[in-house]
This record gives sequence, structure tokens and C-alpha cells, in this order.
Amino acid sequence: EDVRSLLLSRIKDVADYPKPGVMFKDITPLLADPEAFGALTGALVELAGRYGATKIVGLEARGFILAAPVAVQAGIGFVPVRKAGKLPGATLAQSYELEYGTAEIEVHAEDLATGDRVMVIDDVLATGGTAEASLSLIRRAGAEVAGVAVLMELSFLPGRAKLAGSLAGAPLDAL
Ligand code: IMP
Repeated sequence: EDVRSLLLSRIKDVADYPKPGVMFKDITPLLADPEAFGALTGALVELAGRYGATKIVGLEARGFILAAPVAVQAGIGFVPVRKAGKLPGATLAQSYELEYGTAEIEVHAEDLATGDRVMVIDDVLATGGTAEASLSLIRRAGAEVAGVAVLMELSFLPGRAKLAGSLAGAPLDAL
């Protein structure tokens, strides 16, 4: 419907970035447009309600930008999942495979607890590796995965299929 076409119209395709052969989805035009950013935030707040979320996890870095206003509007806490080495407190860490090599993400262990229902927010679901690692962090912290919401899913990649097992029935929504 029209939120979907508004959002699509504010995402720019940038060829050969960050390397040759990659078509990068640039969301900065969307962020710069208060109508589009507001519509995205509103749609994510609605999903948070549908999920019954009690915490919002944002994935570094663009996930932070989308997740923070949603947490404030929904009146629930925001928890950053960061690249390794950025959080000062006691963390849980999870590594995952990249196209070349591995990456690691972390969360403060005390930010998530048993009984939390966590909504994960990011801008782009590509291979699903980052989102999958975040789900295992959430479960290892004792919390429950309420759902995953992304602005965009690159449907020519098998991200949704890769994530299916770790979602364990929780919803994955791409706006
Ligand atoms: P995945 O782990 O392969 O699913 O990659 C998802 C992560 O990479 C997300 O945190 C995205 O922010 C980032 N990413 C991958 N492709 C793009 C893109 O085209 N535009 C913006 N971010 C991207």
C-alpha cells in the first residue's frame, strides 16, 4: 500500500558500493524525509504492539537509528547489539560467518533477562547472518524472541530461509 511505496521511493540503489558488484541500499534519503521516517517508525511501533514486545534490540549501526524512536514511542527499553569490543560491561558474544571470514556481536548481559519479549530491528536483512546471531544472543540471555522487523529484505538472498530455524515460529516482517 502507500507506506510501502513511500518507503521504497526513499531508498536509493547505489551500484558497486562498498565494492564492485554490490548494489547497496542507501536509506539516508528516507531518514532525511520526516514523513517517510515517521511512517516507518509508526509501522514498526504497530508491529511492536502486535509482537507484544517488552524490549527493542537494535543492530549496529543503522538498526540503532530505526530502533531508538520505536522504543521511545512504544514506551519500552532500547538495547543495543554492538560489534565486538564496544560495550564496557559484562557481555555475551556471538560470532557468525561472513562472505569472507567471521564477525562478532555483543550485548550487555544485564540488559536482557528472563521474561523479556524482544523485538529485533535492523534496516536490511541480507544473508541473515547478523539477525541469526542476534537471536542466539537474546536466547542465551534468557529472553524470548518476539519477532524480527526489517525495513527491507533482499529477497534474492536466502536470509529468510536461513533465519527460519532460529525464529522458531516468531514472525519476520519486512516493511
Ligand atoms: P546479513 O548479516 O548478511 O543479513 O547483513 C545484514 C547487515 O548488513 C545489516 O546490519 C545491514 O545493515 C547490512 N547490510 C547488508 N546489505 C546492505 C545494504 O545494501 N544496505 C545497507 N545495509 C546493508
